[in-house]
Amino acid sequence: MSQNRILLSSPHMGGNEKKYVKEAFKTNWIAPVGNNVNMFEKQIMEFTGTKAACAVSSGTGAIHLALDLLGVGKDDIVFCSSLTFVASANPILYLGARPVFIDSELDTWNMSPEILEQALEFYQTHERLPKAVIVVNLYGQSAQMDRIVEICNRYGVPIIEDAAESLGAVYKGRMSGTFGKFGVYSFNGNKIITTSGGGMIISDEEIMIKKALKKATQSKETAAHYQHENVGYNYRLSNICAGIGRGQMEVLEERIRQKRAIFEQYVYGLGDVDGLGFMPEANDSFHTRWLSALTIDRTKLGATAGEMIEHLAENNIEARPVWKPLHMQPLFRGFDYFCEGQDNSRYLFENGICLPSDTKMTVEEISRVIRLMRERIHADKILA
Ligand SMILES: *Cc1c(COP(=O)(O)O)cnc(C)c1O
Repeated sequence: MSQNRILLSSPHMGGNEKKYVKEAFKTNWIAPVGNNVNMFEKQIMEFTGTKAACAVSSGTGAIHLALDLLGVGKDDIVFCSSLTFVASANPILYLGARPVFIDSELDTWNMSPEILEQALEFYQTHERLPKAVIVVNLYGQSAQMDRIVEICNRYGVPIIEDAAESLGAVYKGRMSGTFGKFGVYSFNGNKIITTSGGGMIISDEEIMIKKALKKATQSKETAAHYQHENVGYNYRLSNICAGIGRGQMEVLEERIRQKRAIFEQYVYGLGDVDGLGFMPEANDSFHTRWLSALTIDRTKLGATAGEMIEHLAENNIEARPVWKPLHMQPLFRGFDYFCEGQDNSRYLFENGICLPSDTKMTVEEISRVIRLMRERIHADKILA
């Protein structure tokens, strides 16, 4: 009996994407400008309640633009969450700046406000305050942005919110991505909505987004001839891809409901197992559950996260470890890392697992994942 492969998170079209893509063909706006780009930006602005947005070709590009606009350059310091995908910090290196990594707290799995403050204090005494802090909102949940904003304001350091994984998450009544000077979204193939590849940089400061647009289009000055005074990039989103984005925005809320329902089913099927620690949903926080994540206590359950991932893989199911923290990556060897007592991001990496969270999964398929997990940790024997 062959069973369908169960994926971690794959593109899930709503239906209208093709209509908007066709529109681009019909009007011949096969370019990184056009109605789809404008409409997609408008949808993001309305959905998140932000004043300005610029669609770009990737989330990584959006972070690069944000850092550049904040004047980050050679040997500047930029703080960044350690527990994240490499794309959060790669643009720091593009600019020749130096990343400093900050550990997570266990309540949100995101940047610890206490450790951030300690790191700021340390760098202030050495008169080397960072040019920016990149705060990552992991797997669909916001960091404690009110505290982080308060701390950064006190030190006068701007925030870039890497909300690539948290579009639609809410923190204290506000949309994830709208707390920093800049917010960044990604529409890569595995994200909650996708344009096949794409990103967005947002801000309440319209002037900054105007500057982002200029930088994303080779920093061309207003002149009939080609006039350039600053370095620029070719980062604009294609009008074809933006058409996919327009259709995807129409189903974003449905996808969030589906993602949360998947998580609820995992809790229903595994919540009785002592030794499994689901990623918490913090107070005043609405988690999209882009990925359902949990930790596995190897001493209680006799299996490591890695062994569980292997067991699921043998059964044609895609699960993944939690991001390997950037301070553990050879690429970033030699850069500072701040943590206190237990290294939480290392702990989450070594014990964490992201379960299949594909919105195209059936209830039966989720049950199959649960059954196989219980089998691997002998849950029914332990509980009997
Ligand atoms: C996906 C992702 C990015 C990068 O987005 P791309 O569109 O793939 O360039 C950045 N940060 C985090 C946390 C991500 O998960």
